Amino acid sequence: MNSVGRPPELDSKGEPVQKSLVNVTIPSKLANFLKKKGINRSKLFTDVVKKMYNNELCPRCYGEDLHKGLVGIFCTDCEPAAYRVQGSFHWVQLFNCENCDSRYKPPYNMFANSKEVPKGCWDCIPKEKRL
Ligand SMILES: [Zn+2]
Ligand SMILES: [Zn+2]
Repeated sequence: MNSVGRPPELDSKGEPVQKSLVNVTIPSKLANFLKKKGINRSKLFTDVVKKMYNNELCPRCYGEDLHKGLVGIFCTDCEPAAYRVQGSFHWVQLFNCENCDSRYKPPYNMFANSKEVPKGCWDCIPKEKRL
């Protein structure tokens, strides 16, 4: 059996993302341009909103429950707090270490500090020096 249309977009819990129809009014020349290029307006609008508000919206579940931690920004809408263990957050954005510029990569590269370095990471502070 052939399936019609594209498969539904799933959120981080595997549930179909709920969709709403929105009407937008744009200049006719812009509308013609999009039509001529064959650009999917729903996808375009979603992509633009995700890009413009990438620190306010989770790109996986579209939730707004984002939190800033030491190593990055994570979404708590994706996973209830009770199930969270260190390193398994749904990271929306990961920061770079202020000391060595390595990207934090939980659980492989986490925040660390030492007597000499107040804000570092596992890459730049050897285990025996970490506080
Ligand atoms: Zn999320
Ligand atoms: Zn570092």
